[in-house]
Amino acid sequence: MAVATDTFTEKTDEQKAITEMVRQFADHEIIPVAEEYDHEDKFPEPIVEQMKELGLFGVTIPEEYGGMGLDLTTYAMIVEELSRGWISISGVVNTHFIGSYLLMKFGTDEQKHTFLPKMATGEIRAAFSLSEPEVGSDVQGIKSTAKQGDGGEWEINGQKMWVTNGLRSGLVFVLVKTDTKAEPPYKGMTCFICEKEPGADKVLGLTIPPKIKKMGYKGVESTELVFDGFKVPEDRILGGPDGLGQGFVQMMDALEVGRVNVAARGVGVAQRSMELALRYSQERKTFGKPIAQHQAITFKLAEMGTRLEAARLLTMKAARMKDAGERSDLEAGMAKLFASEAAKENAEEALRIHGGYGYSKEYEIERIYRDAPLLLIGEGTSEIQKMVIGKKLLERNRA
Ligand SMILES: Cc1cc2nc3c(=O)[nH]c(=O)nc-3n(C[C@H](O)[C@H](O)[C@H](O)COP(=O)(O)OP(=O)(O)OC[C@H]3O[C@@H](n4cnc5c(N)ncnc54)[C@H](O)[C@@H]3O)c2cc1C
Repeated sequence: MAVATDTFTEKTDEQKAITEMVRQFADHEIIPVAEEYDHEDKFPEPIVEQMKELGLFGVTIPEEYGGMGLDLTTYAMIVEELSRGWISISGVVNTHFIGSYLLMKFGTDEQKHTFLPKMATGEIRAAFSLSEPEVGSDVQGIKSTAKQGDGGEWEINGQKMWVTNGLRSGLVFVLVKTDTKAEPPYKGMTCFICEKEPGADKVLGLTIPPKIKKMGYKGVESTELVFDGFKVPEDRILGGPDGLGQGFVQMMDALEVGRVNVAARGVGVAQRSMELALRYSQERKTFGKPIAQHQAITFKLAEMGTRLEAARLLTMKAARMKDAGERSDLEAGMAKLFASEAAKENAEEALRIHGGYGYSKEYEIERIYRDAPLLLIGEGTSEIQKMVIGKKLLERNRA
């Protein structure tokens, strides 16, 4: 698909049509019920069913496997709209997108043919699992292992943490150590495609404890995965035998694309916060006029709007560069850092603009304020993004 390069925000007719469709879906099917699902911390099954019908689980999967075959830029536009509705909805798609990216880029033909068609329809959904109770940022420090038995099968042991869609997914891309003595450690890491029954909290060799209770990002479950001799066939190493020892590199590649995805989620949250602030500030009156007319509030709106626009531009630039086949690690890191911070700041400013009502569960902004901080943490914290950005800047500008 051709990449429009004239401006970073211009949309093709196809992009206009699809984002309009998703925006309407968010306005009519997500926003009106998000509060209820959030309060009950309930999985939004009916919304997910509708997303399957709309083909939203196969946006980037090639048409030959039943997907839409669209590029990262269009995907990012869709994610912005879903996240504008409710960040947890984009969370259901997010890990699935990373899983399908891993398969499309590194999977064997057999792995692609086996999983991608069912993933395109959403019949099976994917999760990915790097983090452990003692390890998040320092991925090379993971402790989970896989050992090959005499029959060729691999056996996974160890505890994973924070797996989004951990219970309801049918496929989990799990990063473990297959050589604990490798130096540097990343050379001994392998990604396994683990198949499991969606919704089952106990299968042979794998226990999924009750979901972790969170301050926000509710509805979609985050779980531990406790592996105790979980068996994986030999041909389920991502990429086949050549994938042995390649897991770290594969996952880091996927996370780079994932950063554009998280940035797009940040833009969606920043956008919705802006909309709510604009509406409320023109309705609420103090000292005889709408609060939007007080300069302190107008300035807040100005800063929010500028932040939103900058976040969107950075996100679209990173996505378009990736689609154009250009190196975009630096840009993806910048987009993720800026857009996630913009989401948090816009959410807080919108909450302030709502005064006491912002603190009430009757108002949407209360939920958004609890949801937004996730973006500062997932797929690399802001501190880690700064490390990546600084390193890349120095690499590209050697003295
Ligand atoms: C709701 C939710 C969903 C998640 N979903 C998934 C998922 O689906 N799959 C998955 O694998 N993981 C997932 N994660 C885990 C997430 O990726 C990690 O929480 C994140 O990478 C941070 O790791 P940590 O929590 O272990 O923090 P730590 O790595 O312990 O970091 C703690 C603090 O120290 C800072 N820090 C760490 N190292 C440095 C350094 N070198 N220099 C400066 N500061 C540093 C961090 O920025 C942070 O502020 C999820 C997390 C959450 C909260």
